[in-house]
Amino acid sequence: MARNIGPVCRLCRREGLKLFLKGERCYTDKCGIERRNYPPGAHGQARTRFSEYAIRLREKQKVKRIYRMLEKQFAGYFKEAERTPGITGENLLILLERRLDNVVYRLGFASSLAQARQLIRHGHLEIDGKPVTIPSYLVAVNEVVSITEKSRQKKPIVEAIELSQRRGLPAWIALERDQFRGSLRALPTRADLTVPVSEKLIVEHYSR
Ligand code: SF4
Repeated sequence: MARNIGPVCRLCRREGLKLFLKGERCYTDKCGIERRNYPPGAHGQARTRFSEYAIRLREKQKVKRIYRMLEKQFAGYFKEAERTPGITGENLLILLERRLDNVVYRLGFASSLAQARQLIRHGHLEIDGKPVTIPSYLVAVNEVVSITEKSRQKKPIVEAIELSQRRGLPAWIALERDQFRGSLRALPTRADLTVPVSEKLIVEHYSR
């Protein structure tokens, strides 16, 4: 599958906020945003006036980057959100939050979404005791996500769990850290989600 392999700190600098894509480094003064808090490129420090279109586009790009999606995949989630009863923008964020890679990251078993995807693909995760290697798997309420027994002492997982204690745990997620497992207490509502985006602008972007 195609993926974005460019320098990820540029993505944060482009969006003007920390997207926490690099694990531990994001919490240090080596963070790209801490060092150069302006957009990348030769004209990064120039004053720019954004058109309405550009504002909506940036909001869509921001969410796409937070969840590490490519355009086609993200558009697919948007279509799914439109088909789901309720408010499209909120449906979109809830769908993205339910992805297994995101749940593994929120549980603190990985220090970034990229690491969560790698752990899942390499077979370190189970759902209800069965191996699942698909990062886009949508986790349902009460399904138990756990680290396989043989992987629990792996260094990257142990380090990620330690680092995650700085992030805290969302209220809609239940974690039994000493058992290396967790689940969704309920589907998150918009009020539960702290992603700093205006999903209304994304809906407007796709409706233009
Ligand atoms: Fe973003 Fe992390 Fe890079 Fe900082 S270190 S710019 S938060 S990816």
